[in-house]
Amino acid sequence: MKCEHCGYEGVKSTFRYLYNTTLDAPTAYRECPKCFKWVIVNELEEEKKEKSA
Ligand SMILES: [Zn+2]
Repeated sequence: MKCEHCGYEGVKSTFRYLYNTTLDAPTAYRECPKCFKWVIVNELEEEKKEKSA
């Protein structure tokens, strides 16, 4: 996944998990390890990408 703020790119696990946006959606907030800003990530989409990579 990629940080939309600073452009840092890395696997999902390098971004610290903060919390889910809503209970029934696969989107969550994660913290960028480089600029420490919050990035909204679709957890399901990222898992698919990492498995196929
Ligand atoms: Zn960043």
